[in-house]
Amino acid sequence: MCGIVGAVAQRDVAEILVEGLRRLEYRGYDSAGIAVVDADSNMTRVRRLGKVKELSDAVDATQVSGGTGIAHTRWATHGEPSEINAHPHVSGDISVVHNGIIENHETLREVLRERGYVFESQTDTEVIAHLVEWERRTSETLVEALQKAVKQLDGAYGTVVVDRNDPSRVVVARSGSPIVIGFGVGENFIASDQLALLSVTRRFMYLEEGDVAEVTRRDVTVFDAQGQLVERDIAESNAEHDAGDKGQYRHFMQKEIFEQPTALINTMEARLTKDTVITESIGVNAAEILAKVEHVQIIACGTSYNAGMTARYWFESLAGVSCDVEIASEFRYRKFVTRPNSLLITLSQSGETADTLAALRLAKEKGYMAAMTVCNVAGSSLVRESDFAFMTRAGTEIGVASTKAFTTQLAALLMLVTAMGKQQQRIDGAKEAEIVEALHALPAQIQAALAYDKEIEALAEDFADKHHTLFLGRGEFYPIAMEASLKLKEISYIHAEAYAAGELKHGPLALIDADMPVVVVAPNNELLEKLKSNVEEVRARGGLLYVFADAAAGFEADDSMKIINLPHVSEITAPIYYTIPMQLLSYHVALIKGTDVDQPRNLAKAVTVE
Ligand code: GLU
Repeated sequence: MCGIVGAVAQRDVAEILVEGLRRLEYRGYDSAGIAVVDADSNMTRVRRLGKVKELSDAVDATQVSGGTGIAHTRWATHGEPSEINAHPHVSGDISVVHNGIIENHETLREVLRERGYVFESQTDTEVIAHLVEWERRTSETLVEALQKAVKQLDGAYGTVVVDRNDPSRVVVARSGSPIVIGFGVGENFIASDQLALLSVTRRFMYLEEGDVAEVTRRDVTVFDAQGQLVERDIAESNAEHDAGDKGQYRHFMQKEIFEQPTALINTMEARLTKDTVITESIGVNAAEILAKVEHVQIIACGTSYNAGMTARYWFESLAGVSCDVEIASEFRYRKFVTRPNSLLITLSQSGETADTLAALRLAKEKGYMAAMTVCNVAGSSLVRESDFAFMTRAGTEIGVASTKAFTTQLAALLMLVTAMGKQQQRIDGAKEAEIVEALHALPAQIQAALAYDKEIEALAEDFADKHHTLFLGRGEFYPIAMEASLKLKEISYIHAEAYAAGELKHGPLALIDADMPVVVVAPNNELLEKLKSNVEEVRARGGLLYVFADAAAGFEADDSMKIINLPHVSEITAPIYYTIPMQLLSYHVALIKGTDVDQPRNLAKAVTVE
């Protein structure tokens, strides 16, 4: 779930490993560790609770030397964050790092105890170390031992193993948690994300699901899940070294919009199996707490507030748990009543939003059963001060107007809702599988939605000379309309408002004329017919409509209505999907108007003041 780095080289690798971990810090973690073996089979292991910086200082002080090593940043799922539970885990001569969760760890623990193994940690990972040690005794090679061991594992893992008796190789396995191999000159590397290795190589090979591989200084041998020798492609990466580089894009915001398929893959990584959400991936004791929650109180500001508003529909409709969402600056200054067994959830990209942080601190004294944050910045105040944190892993977001942080928050919240519904037996296996399938399909669907860029750019011309815009949606698409209107306001300075479409005739209909474009978010769901009536209400008053619709929704374009037909996607994830064309619309309107897209006037990225 967090970070893995490994190396087989002639030179000392400790520094490369620690630098790799540093590059993965954005993912969030609670502890870090390293194990290095030198040519004489001396193994040095250093682990620290807390930051990579602390590990790095300890590594310097210990003078760790050796050309073969593995390193890890841990985000605890089984067993508290502590030095003892930090990876690498050791059994005899075997050292192991692991990302993910071993679901059958309890059964394996029993078996291994009977064989005489003594467990040092509370982690699920330690079973891998003992299993490989056990299998090594009767295997010709280390890779064979790992192949035998992974056959016994259920769950998700990316794992790297080293045997101190043979520092010429490390072996790795991938199932549900990515592993990439980086090729150097006379040295090779392993990581959970190529980002960790960009300082040492640009040539990468991604392992596929079920692969087990052996990596030496000169060779990489890969076996598929059936144990057959296979070739995997090696590709040259042109990934940006630095999140602070716009690369081929004109603006950071544009780059961040286009990064969303990858960002979402990162958000979901090792948190989903093929058809389930892995509840433990939300945090230690998450299963226990989620089972008891009777009410959810979400606190947020700005875009995060809109994500919370969307999640409210999901908490109530999917998990059957009541949910309130409130703007942090209001919540913190009013006298509120804490409902029994309430879970407090703060949402923030930066984790430093002053009002949200103040609301969290206040709420902690008011009897919430637990405080959780859904956040993008590891180590931020919200992450540190909450009982548990669900990292969105969107990567650095530089554009002031939030894009990928929003869609990854939504994906994280949908996983949380599903886990809660499951723990409370309100979401059955079939429903869970449907949600998880929709989540898995999302990155590719969003990739396809980005191809509407040109069509939306053409549409944007109509908005650039207008002073007002109205966005309409119903149900969970109402907060998506709110987010769309916020985006347009922020970066194009056009006044925009969002209304629940059913509210039109209670006021805003009076505003409708040919000078105020009306944007409608129109998926093909059970509210479609109602939404169509709202569209007619606008049309009858001479309004100009821009409908983003499911192709099967049956809207017909004419002089007063332009339609962007989008392919059908699952109703569950459609709010995330429909956000993409809305972001593109704001971006292009701002571009035509020539505003400062990445740093709109009067706004700041992390709002650390009240
Ligand atoms: N499940 C493992 C643990 O709790 C690995 C967590 C991770 O992916 O960092 O130690």
